[in-house]
This record gives sequence, C-alpha cells and structure tokens, in this order.
Amino acid sequence: MAQAFRPLAVVTGASSGIGLGLARCCASAGHDLVIAADDAEIEKAALSLRSFGVAVEAVEADLSTKDGVDLLCNAVSWGGRAPEILCANAGIGLGGGFLDQDLAKALKVVDTNVSGTLRLLHRMGRDMRANGAGRILITGSIAGFTPGAFQAVYNGTKAFLDSFSFALRAELEGSGVSVTCLMPGVTDTEFFARAELEDTKLAHSKKDDPDEVARIGFDAMMRGEGDVVSGWSNKLKTALALITPAEMLARTHKREAEPGSARKE
Ligand code: NAP
Repeated sequence: MAQAFRPLAVVTGASSGIGLGLARCCASAGHDLVIAADDAEIEKAALSLRSFGVAVEAVEADLSTKDGVDLLCNAVSWGGRAPEILCANAGIGLGGGFLDQDLAKALKVVDTNVSGTLRLLHRMGRDMRANGAGRILITGSIAGFTPGAFQAVYNGTKAFLDSFSFALRAELEGSGVSVTCLMPGVTDTEFFARAELEDTKLAHSKKDDPDEVARIGFDAMMRGEGDVVSGWSNKLKTALALITPAEMLARTHKREAEPGSARKE
C-alpha cells in the first residue's frame, strides 16, 4: 500500500524509451508515480515499475488533446498529493517532406509536443508554484538547434520547447520550482519507427542508450540545472550548431533525414 509521505512524480510518455527510463529513475529514488501514455502499454510499464516497491498509477490518455491532459491532471489531483516532480516527456516525430506529409499527422506532432506539453505545464506548474516546491523536466532535443529538413515540424517543436523551458525557468526563479530541459541526441527508442524515419541515415546512426539519457536528465533535474545535453558528441554538435549558418545546418539535416537516405552512401 502507498505510504502517504512518499513524494509523487508524474512522467508522461513513460510506456517506452526515455520516459520509461525517467520513471525508473523516479521509482528508484523512492517516488510514487503517475505515468501516462496513449495506449495500453502503459499498464505493462506500471507493472514493471511496481517492482521498485512504490505505488504506480497508469493513465491511458492522448496528451495531444485537452481531454487527455485533463484526464491525467484529474488522476493526479484525485490522490490529493501535489507532484514533487513532473517529467513532461511525451513526444512524437514525423519524417518526410512537409508538403508530402499528411497535414493531420504533422499537426498531431505540434499538438503533442507543444500544445499538450503547455497545457500540462500550465496546470501542474501552477499547483507547484502555489506549493512553493517542485521540479519540472521538459524533454526537448538537440534537434531544436537545427532546422530539420525532412523532419521540419518536429525540429520546430523541439526548438520551441528548448526555448520555452529556459523562459519558464527564469519566470519561476525564487518560487521554489525549478525547470530543467533535457536535450538528448539520437537515442535508441521506438521514436524512429513511429516517426516513419526508418529508411533514413539518421535512424541508422549511432544511438545513445535511453536509460543513460534518462539518468543524465534526472540527475540534472535533481541538481536544479537549467539544461543538459546528453553525451559529449551531442554537446559538440550543439556547440557547432550555434556557429553554423542555419542554411548549412538544414542542408546537412536533409542528407541525414531524407527518405531513402539509409540506402545511399
Ligand atoms: P518513444 O519510445 O517513442 O516514447 C514516446 C512516448 O511518448 C511513448 O510513451 C508514447 O506513448 C508517448 N506519447 C506519444 N504521443 C503521445 C500522446 N499523444 N499522448 C500520450 N503519450 C504519447 O520515444 P522516445 O525517444 O523515448 O521519446 C521521448 C521524448 O524524447 C520525446 O519527447 C522525443 O521527442 C524526445 N527525444 C527523442 C530522441 C530520440 O532520438 N529518440 C532524441 C531527442 C529527443 P504511446 O506509445 O502510447 O503513444
């Protein structure tokens, strides 16, 4: 049975990949959990996380919608405990040229990564500020530093989150609530298959381990840092991106993310 004094963590996109890793970090640090994702896999994740000896509630909700975010927030407030940690991690990508994409799918990327994340942060962030305590981790990406030809909408959403995270952090200075942006590079998760990027060079490049990426993000959040880029090669990429013309960055990304590029030399 859950102990009333155990702190609560909320992790979105916790059914797989980096989110599941973040949920494991929270559980191993002794946090009860409310975890969310869009399909029934979230129940399996909950089952495995309970082995850490913490209470875990799984919420199946489409966080690209207002109803989905409301469902999650209501599940959290129903327990009567304000979360100490919020990991706003759920996100999706979409490969292909923008004009060739199904517009509904492209807009779903924006609704999930941007609008859904904003709804969640607005609601839970207010509660945290009212309590004068809380840690927020937003999963942005090093993709936010690069105009992502053949993944243009996704990279745009991550540029938004990377920027927004620092702005919110500055607004909340002195409130007791910290905001940290985790910026992973290419990570070995279901992301590429879901984003229809499997036949791209990007999807075949060397990938980081999602549990390691999660641990780096979790530790940075616990230290109250503003951002963390996971891994040295990703740190180097972001440093170079800051001094490279945007047009050149977009051309490089095009070679990496163009459909069929995996089959080219
Ligand atoms: P993943 O394994 O595909 O995990 C994505 C998670 O988000 C899943 O739990 C998924 O659950 C959930 N999700 C997606 N859409 C949702 C929606 N509408 N409502 C609720 N949950 C939803 O990929 P990942 O790589 O771990 O991605 C996690 C985060 O890391 C994302 O924000 C991604 O942009 C970011 N990131 C990934 C990489 C990378 O190379 N993998 C690099 C930088 C940043 P369902 O299956 O139920 O939809």
